[in-house]
Amino acid sequence: MGLSAFAKAIAGGIIGFQAVMYAMREPQTFIRPPGAKDDSDFLARCVRCGKCLEACPYESIRMVKDPLDPSSGTPCISVREKACRMCEDLPCVKACPTGALRDCEEREDIRMGIAVINERTCLSYKGMRCEVCYRACPLLDRAIAIDYRMREGDDRHSVFAPVIDPEVCTGCGWCVERCVTDEPAIAIVRDKADAEGYWDVYNVEHGYASDEDPAAWSAASGTAAATKAFSE
Ligand code: SF4
Ligand code: SF4
Ligand code: SF4
Repeated sequence: MGLSAFAKAIAGGIIGFQAVMYAMREPQTFIRPPGAKDDSDFLARCVRCGKCLEACPYESIRMVKDPLDPSSGTPCISVREKACRMCEDLPCVKACPTGALRDCEEREDIRMGIAVINERTCLSYKGMRCEVCYRACPLLDRAIAIDYRMREGDDRHSVFAPVIDPEVCTGCGWCVERCVTDEPAIAIVRDKADAEGYWDVYNVEHGYASDEDPAAWSAASGTAAATKAFSE
């Protein structure tokens, strides 16, 4: 093997190793800015210039900074830290020079993902009054509504359960940013196909899946930590 072929093989091995290491970690906790398509399209077009980040008036956009992530240097929104504020004029999309962000003229066009609620850890599903995510949603009563129902096996107490309409939700992440539990009981999934069963593995791994000992997952999910402020 020549020197250049050897160097290529080493470089390929490093990239492959990085990809495997990256895939083995926890699921991604970020979304792409408005107007991004799937990651193969986005990564092919994004030149990592940072113009969308500069244009975002709320500093919601950050650059991925992770040596193990092949997309390091591309823009993302970490919704738990700072959700997208869904600007009317979408300056991030307008600033993108390559069309990596595109086809997004107004707020209703935004589709960054959809919210999914963990019914095992959400305070409302346990019978407490919370609904913070519902009130935080800029599309209140459209993307999230409250489903009033009786508690299962209990004809005296009701549940005020937030439910998501996946056809309306933009994936802005306000609900995740404001969720009051330490480990948010709501997440954004970028691909609708991943929504069903999204929390199943998480709940098994974190001991929230068993019906036999609800007290265990109730305490672990941070019911005592319902203190996150609900003000901008
Ligand atoms: S819509 Fe506004 S808040 Fe959201 S990423 Fe674009 S510029 Fe930032
Ligand atoms: S991500 Fe959450 S806050 Fe944003 S539109 Fe969807 S339900 Fe509402
Ligand atoms: S803010 Fe979190 S805990 Fe409260 S209702 Fe929404 S998802 Fe459930």
